[in-house]
Parts: sequence; C-alpha cells; structure tokens
Amino acid sequence: MQVAKHKVVVIDYTLTNDQGAVIDSSKDGEPMAYIQGMNNIIPGLENALDGKQAGDSLKVTVQPSEGYGERDDSMQQQVPREMFDTQEGIQVGMQFHASDGDRVHVVTVVDANDTHVTVDGNHPLAGQTLNFDVTIVDVRDPTKEEMEHGHVHGPGGHQH
Ligand code: ZN
Repeated sequence: MQVAKHKVVVIDYTLTNDQGAVIDSSKDGEPMAYIQGMNNIIPGLENALDGKQAGDSLKVTVQPSEGYGERDDSMQQQVPREMFDTQEGIQVGMQFHASDGDRVHVVTVVDANDTHVTVDGNHPLAGQTLNFDVTIVDVRDPTKEEMEHGHVHGPGGHQH
C-alpha cells in the first residue's frame, strides 16, 4: 500500500544533525506510527514519504523551514527565579513546561544566576538541518477511532 493522505504509516528512522550526531532513533524502541496529512510529523518528512511504499528506504534532508522552524532570539527571556516551583538545582540544560495562554510549550534553561533564569522557548531542534534515514515498515488504513482522534493507537502511537 502506498503512503497517501490519511493512511497510517509506520516507520523506522534515525535522525542525525549535520555534524553526524544521532539526535533520535526508533532503533532503541519500536517504530513510530503516524497518520499522513494530519500534522503528526514535520512537513519536510511527511512530504518526502508521500507516494512511497512499505519496504522503501530513503534518506531525507529537512531544512529548518520544513522542520522545527528557524531560531527566534526573541523567544529567549530572563525570568525571576521566583517564577519557578523548584528553587534548588536549576541548571543549564534543564527543560520546563511553560504555559502561554492555553498553549503549553517546552523551554530550556540556557543561563542561571542568583536572581534570574534565562530560558529559551525555541524548539531544541529549531534552526537545525535534519537528516533522516527512514524505512517504511507498514502502511495501512486507520481505524475509525484513530481518524476521530487524529493519531495512531497502539504500538508506536498513542497509548490510551
Ligand atoms: Zn487517541
């Protein structure tokens, strides 16, 4: 079966950055399952997989504009330490969930002193060119429930 809009696609993948370092891989766990055309994954990867078949392997290079976006320096801000629930052990590299209206996103601590913590709201992969090594394990029709939820259930998908 061919990858097309609203098909469930199951992939094995390894993601490396331009320096060749492995950022993420399904090899440590189970393949990832998503629904094509539902914004489950980044557009650059989704577009490259469109029309491919189960068993196909491909290398995909995704530019930031088709991946996690360009870095935006205005998303870096200094916040008073009192804003954090934990006062102890705030360290560079730690990640927190921050709410911005009804939107929750992840911020990364990039600097911390006695009074203030500098957090970066950019996605950790923003501004990076992403190199995917992908093998399509399976392509199938979604269940009615999966289409209603907009994501895949079971192995490689949502467990709920
Ligand atoms: Zn669900």
